[in-house]
Amino acid sequence: MSASNSKRITIVGTGFGALTAVRKLRSLDANAQITVVSPRPEFLYYPSLVWIPSRMRESSDLVVNLDAFFQRMNVHYHQGSASGLKEGGRTLVTDTGELPNDGLIIASGGRYLTKLPGIDNAAIPCRSLTDAERFRDQLEALDGGTVAFGFGGNPKEPSAMRGGPVFEYLFGTHTLLKKQKRRDRFQLKFFAPAKRPGQRMGDAAVDRLLEAMRKRDIQTHLGHPLKAFHPNRIETEGESFDTDLIVFIPGMTGSTWTQATDLPQSPGGFVQSDANCKVAGFDRVYVVGDAGSYPGPEWMPKQAHMADLQAIAACKNLMSEFAGEPAQASFKVELACIVDSLDSGMLVARSGTRSLMLPATRLLHWSKRLFEWNYMRQYR
Ligand SMILES: Cc1cc2nc3c(=O)[nH]c(=O)nc-3n(C[C@H](O)[C@H](O)[C@H](O)COP(=O)(O)OP(=O)(O)OC[C@H]3O[C@@H](n4cnc5c(N)ncnc54)[C@H](O)[C@@H]3O)c2cc1C
Repeated sequence: MSASNSKRITIVGTGFGALTAVRKLRSLDANAQITVVSPRPEFLYYPSLVWIPSRMRESSDLVVNLDAFFQRMNVHYHQGSASGLKEGGRTLVTDTGELPNDGLIIASGGRYLTKLPGIDNAAIPCRSLTDAERFRDQLEALDGGTVAFGFGGNPKEPSAMRGGPVFEYLFGTHTLLKKQKRRDRFQLKFFAPAKRPGQRMGDAAVDRLLEAMRKRDIQTHLGHPLKAFHPNRIETEGESFDTDLIVFIPGMTGSTWTQATDLPQSPGGFVQSDANCKVAGFDRVYVVGDAGSYPGPEWMPKQAHMADLQAIAACKNLMSEFAGEPAQASFKVELACIVDSLDSGMLVARSGTRSLMLPATRLLHWSKRLFEWNYMRQYR
């Protein structure tokens, strides 16, 4: 450890998990030397990407520059991308230099699988601001036609999928086209390899989502594994149908840089964590958020809320280890999301054996907006 006895902690990423880790570490240790590494000193609030196509949000609304936050938290920011580890994690290698540490928290997120043949024919609006804007522009340019929305998974790790936002893009597009008085010129479709898409949210939620599609005259194509996307056609193992625009959220895997290290990997390619966010076989190396794979129920979501809970557990454990105590803090598994449709929202929550489903109301839409404001405000 460092000679001054103040601990050097490196955090990889500036997303949900990383920034929660900064706040928690600072609250636990006023003297820790915290270094944060990421390509840009910015936080992107992903959940509101679903409001880009309607122009309810512009890209600049969703990005927070972190200079002021880092100053407040007394954080050293190192601009760069992590590319490897040395000395069992005690040195983080980046494309802009090597960083020694006494403790490491990996919060660099996941990435989408892009192996499906013809995937470039689909818009992937979850991937980045640019991708969300691209879908917005494609939709604006269409005079009418078919728009098909769907999501896939990672066959090697069923929990590595992001289904919720696709329902938001779908219902949001329906509301937007209605507002623009051109819904009658469009056919909206929903496709998924599963017969009951979104099952992790619980039975009641799936029933409610399918009912919401029926009500909005959205056709479904369910239960057939995907084979390929063509410029104007989707091919599955059971059928093939025409579409003018494909909107797709692929299954997820771990980031390229962690896959190139000797950190243990889960079947789906994430950093394998134990129940305490610790990486087995590595001293004082933790993983939080979408970058990791964690033991727990099969419905454990890859969500910002989980990243936050995992970051808190990791920080407590790192501090315990510095104090020579065992790392015993764990995290609750909770699924919570408001499936928004631009003018109303439906709440889906799951925790332990309980699940809750609240039907769509305007109040829930406004709650989602309030939550966004409140969450982003802490990093401004
Ligand atoms: C459209 C959409 C809607 C969503 N809605 C919800 C919702 O309603 N509720 C919810 O809880 N979750 C939601 N999510 C999921 C949520 O956004 C993610 O689960 C969350 O972002 C994961 O946080 P993270 O910190 O693990 O990773 P991220 O937020 O992805 O952050 C990763 C960070 O690591 C950085 N990074 C990447 N590679 C490197 C590298 N090599 N070196 C250094 N830094 C690197 C990135 O720049 C980024 O700063 C949504 C996601 C999307 C896309």
